[in-house]
Amino acid sequence: MTGEQIRAMDKKYNLHSWSVQGTLNPVVLERAEGIYFWDVYGKQHIDMSSQLVNMNIGHHNLKVIEAIKKQADRMPNIAPPFAADVRSELARKIIEEVAPDNMAKVFFTNAGAEANENAIKIVKLVSGRYTVFSRYRSYHGATYGAANLTGEPRRFACEPGIPGFIKFFDPYRYRAGIDFKSEEEFSSYYVNQLREQITYEGREHVAAIFLETVTGSNGVLIPPAGYLKGVRDICDEFGIMMVCDEVMSGWGRTGEWFAFMNWDVKPDIITFAKGITCGYAPIGGVIVSNKIAEYFDDHLLSCGLTYNGHLLGCAAGIAAIDVYKELGLLENAKKMGVVLKAELGKLQKKHPSLGEVRVIGLFGM
Ligand code: PLP
Repeated sequence: MTGEQIRAMDKKYNLHSWSVQGTLNPVVLERAEGIYFWDVYGKQHIDMSSQLVNMNIGHHNLKVIEAIKKQADRMPNIAPPFAADVRSELARKIIEEVAPDNMAKVFFTNAGAEANENAIKIVKLVSGRYTVFSRYRSYHGATYGAANLTGEPRRFACEPGIPGFIKFFDPYRYRAGIDFKSEEEFSSYYVNQLREQITYEGREHVAAIFLETVTGSNGVLIPPAGYLKGVRDICDEFGIMMVCDEVMSGWGRTGEWFAFMNWDVKPDIITFAKGITCGYAPIGGVIVSNKIAEYFDDHLLSCGLTYNGHLLGCAAGIAAIDVYKELGLLENAKKMGVVLKAELGKLQKKHPSLGEVRVIGLFGM
């Protein structure tokens, strides 16, 4: 097939996400390697956004590809009640080698939205409470519950929303319109606002506060000093669970396995996807604390997916974690982040339309 034939067929039979279909003219791709991909006409492109901020180890990594091939040949999938080596090993690796020491178990999903869907259910089941807080400048996924967590306009298709989903304002200094003397003062202003809002919504009803640790698709908003600790303190005071959505900010993007590790704060739940397999096979999940895991020792975990911990995704995840370590990609993100920040700073000087540059690790704009 020629590129034109592929594109014509794509436009005839495929629906693309978040798009008015008639305006689309997708570039037809053929192959990818490292930071590059090539279209069917042989033109080389630099993948500046790592596809959807998920190809953290780059394209065409043979170690991950081999792991998937081997697993596909042996046993591509099993139903959720069974156990298999790669599912056990990926969960062990996440808990023992990646997550902080308060974390105990993983519930695997297929991607990020499903991770948040299941986290919503888990916090409600564990707490018996029904309110969940999340921020306006946030994206947590496109499925119904995750879209109700989402604060920005991609939630509108799910309006009117599900009762109990409350939004609060995130600390975004560039648009705050208030001249704070320090980052700490800025943080405490927003933390105090949140505290008051929780009080007015009924502290005893609030199950969880969900946050993208570093807000991703709404502009790489980096939490100011003291902010995450302030949210953690509110959670501890009122018995609320803190859920860090690390779907985009996790897996080395900020120079740490998870972004919250930059601020020495431990959430109760971590949701993840994207960089765990870097897109070689889909997998996501919910990591829960010791306390939450213990709760489900004698209570029903009322969550389920046919592809809970799909074995191809598990095999890819194990290999990808090894690749992160072997290539020193966390350290590299920190090192190259300095270069990225400097280069974006140069662009900012040239272009008055560029109001602010925000970079943490290789997460920047
Ligand atoms: N959470 C965050 C922070 C995201 O950036 C995304 C997707 O970009 C999601 C959740 C949803 O993940 P998925 O598209 O894998 O369902």
